[in-house]
Amino acid sequence: MPSVISTDILIVGAGVAGLWLNARLRRQGFSTVLVESASLGGGQSVKSQGIIHGGAKYALHGALTGASEAIADMPRRWREALKGEGELDLSGVRMLSDAHYLWSPGTLAGNLTSFFASKAVRGRVDQVKGDQLPPALQDKRFKGKVYRLAELVVDVPSVIARLAELAGDSLLAGQHIEPLREGGELIGLKVDGREIRAQRIVLSAGGGTADLLSALGLDQPAMQRRPLHMVLVKGPSLKPLYAHCLGGGPKPRVTVTTHPAADGQWVWYVGGDLAEGDGVTREPAAQIAAAQKELGQLLPWIDLSTAQWATLRVDRAEPLQSGLTRPDNAFLAEQDRLLVGWPTKLALAPDFADRVVNALQRDGIQPSHPAPLPDLPKPPMGVPAWEQLLP
Ligand SMILES: Cc1cc2nc3c(=O)[nH]c(=O)nc-3n(C[C@H](O)[C@H](O)[C@H](O)COP(=O)(O)OP(=O)(O)OC[C@H]3O[C@@H](n4cnc5c(N)ncnc54)[C@H](O)[C@@H]3O)c2cc1C
Repeated sequence: MPSVISTDILIVGAGVAGLWLNARLRRQGFSTVLVESASLGGGQSVKSQGIIHGGAKYALHGALTGASEAIADMPRRWREALKGEGELDLSGVRMLSDAHYLWSPGTLAGNLTSFFASKAVRGRVDQVKGDQLPPALQDKRFKGKVYRLAELVVDVPSVIARLAELAGDSLLAGQHIEPLREGGELIGLKVDGREIRAQRIVLSAGGGTADLLSALGLDQPAMQRRPLHMVLVKGPSLKPLYAHCLGGGPKPRVTVTTHPAADGQWVWYVGGDLAEGDGVTREPAAQIAAAQKELGQLLPWIDLSTAQWATLRVDRAEPLQSGLTRPDNAFLAEQDRLLVGWPTKLALAPDFADRVVNALQRDGIQPSHPAPLPDLPKPPMGVPAWEQLLP
């Protein structure tokens, strides 16, 4: 019979949201248990592109309503954490790029110029030319305009690995979750038959949250999934590129990030409009053909003839939104001891943690120094898609 555990905060779901929150709480002296049913970061987090948005992309379409949006502060908070000077010590985590770029292939340059002169982005965006261009765009045939956004790109597997270190002994591999009630009140969870009592319970289980809520007899907050069909390219001629390529529509035509594979080659991970809408309905072979055509038109000087190609279907999990608006803040709902939410972006993991920390402060929840944890079974690390699909 597994032992009964008491902890201050029990968290379910060890993606970036649960892991970041866990590290923040432990730093504040709280005892925590973080339960993961599959692998650390292996849900959406290690499948993300790692861009720490500051909101410039959304400002482009008038969707960023003002400085009050939490997203505007995320690049600064991540940079401080990466330097070891922020709310968490993420020194040693690999930054893939100090900046993300907006690139227009030519025709949109006029619109872009007036947009970048506007108040919304002044001071956050600079045009770059010549040898300041991202390596993949440094070719005499490149005709477009490129703007540098002060948004960094992080190597998500190394973020997850560092957050797992900061989790110490708090991680628990567990599949089967049931409510633990006393007098009708939720006082904890039973994880694979083991009782875990806690002052507060946080669900940060990404796409698994709806099922967890239903196991607890709840159907709110409602969740939505946004399906994506991403494309991966690996080859010896790839050069680093971290950029949104603008098309005529409201979304980037493609968003390319570049990731180091274990064999030393670069992998382009391609999202944006290509991965949404029609891209989701295409079979993998047709999606690869569409990506080959897009990249061939946009970057004809890059030889992709010997590249390896793959696609990855993955859903983004978010709180249910009205219409097509995308949230630019983390989301947290509360019901008694239960807190449930989604960061909605990797970049917003610090905002998600703030919301939980603020709720604990408001309710006067303090570290209670329960008995040390027994040795718990540990979840494995999530494996990046390119290592699985392009070995
Ligand atoms: C293709 C793609 C690209 C993206 N690019 C970016 C980007 O560049 N920048 C950005 O800011 N955001 C990006 N995002 C969004 C970002 O990845 C997510 O918002 C973020 O990773 C969500 O973190 P999370 O911890 O909530 O979820 P997840 O990483 O999905 O973690 C949830 C965890 O909960 C676990 N779990 C589920 N059910 C249970 C259960 N019953 N019991 C225990 N554990 C459970 C899962 O196994 C998983 O490990 C991207 C998303 C996708 C899909």
